[in-house]
Amino acid sequence: MSGDDTVHKVAIIGSGPAGLTAAIYASRAKLDPVCIEGGDITSKTDLPGGQLMLTTDVENFPGFPEGIMGPELMERFKQQAERFGTIFKQGRVAKADLSQRPFTLEIENQLMGTQETIKAQSIIVATGASAKYLGLEAEQKYLGHGVTTCATCDGAFFRDKHVVVVGGGDSAMEEANFLTRFASKVTVVHRRTEFRSSKIMHERALANEKIEWKLNRVVKDIVPDERFLKQLVLAGTNEDEGVEETLDIGPDGGLFVAIGHSPNSQIFGDQIEMHDTGYLKTDGATSRTSVEGVFAAGDIHDDHYRQAITASGAGCKAAIDCEKWLEAQGL
Ligand code: NAP
Repeated sequence: MSGDDTVHKVAIIGSGPAGLTAAIYASRAKLDPVCIEGGDITSKTDLPGGQLMLTTDVENFPGFPEGIMGPELMERFKQQAERFGTIFKQGRVAKADLSQRPFTLEIENQLMGTQETIKAQSIIVATGASAKYLGLEAEQKYLGHGVTTCATCDGAFFRDKHVVVVGGGDSAMEEANFLTRFASKVTVVHRRTEFRSSKIMHERALANEKIEWKLNRVVKDIVPDERFLKQLVLAGTNEDEGVEETLDIGPDGGLFVAIGHSPNSQIFGDQIEMHDTGYLKTDGATSRTSVEGVFAAGDIHDDHYRQAITASGAGCKAAIDCEKWLEAQGL
């Protein structure tokens, strides 16, 4: 374990739109922030930079009328934070001690196999959220072998194959549309007949002739073939309760799980007040958490808007709240 005696004024945990916007504002305010990037650079689905690293075209981030690819947008955020002096540390916070100030963070660098401890007077938590799974036993077994949560990462493996996307939100609609570039057929399996997704994304998917729909259905089981998947067992829901059917997707079909995300708040245990769902509680319209000197921004506390632009705005608020708090402490 390495580390030095430096006490940083602010440590930002996370490098998605919230963390990097906080880094831009904090570094321009001369707080010399250190940003622990998080994610795992050896992973395909949990990269530093957050969820936009797994997206293709971002069409709704203001300032890019032609759209921009998610990874490029995050690279630009990072360059802007670097320009004003943010120090980046690769790795993930494995442990956080918020019981006294300065706070202590243990960082694990998976690639280098190293550990480091840093200290900071204040923390901006921007650890975001990670993909949820269906909870089937076979799902984890075939993860990376037909089961995936990332169309951008794995879509190209399913050229001319039949794939299934589970979910009825924007992620499912986006993934289904994207996958039609490769797959011969995309079936969306959704547990209701109403859709949570925005109208425009749903309509785009409805207009896509390569997409078929299995509504009032959930995936009950997975049947593999030699490489990926052969069949899915679907069970009826709502008025179709009791129905069971087998969907042939082989040879080498895929299952894309797009059913939302859970907040990455586990490292804080019971040190910060959270909702039952694990999202951090913040004080009114501010980014203040229940721990003085700890601020939250982005998907870690927002289970409602969850957009890159709202996360970015929250990162700005957190940096300003943090700056004012440090000033009030005479730090
Ligand atoms: P979401 O809006 O929470 O939708 C999750 C979907 O998965 C829902 O339809 C839900 O069904 C279904 N689901 C959840 N658990 C399930 C389970 N165990 N079994 C079967 N189905 C299950 O999540 P999201 O689509 O990831 O979107 C999250 C946020 O990101 C939203 O605010 C969205 O607008 C945003 N987003 C935006 C874009 C874009 O603008 N380009 C792209 C992607 C995401 P029910 O509806 O029945 O609950």
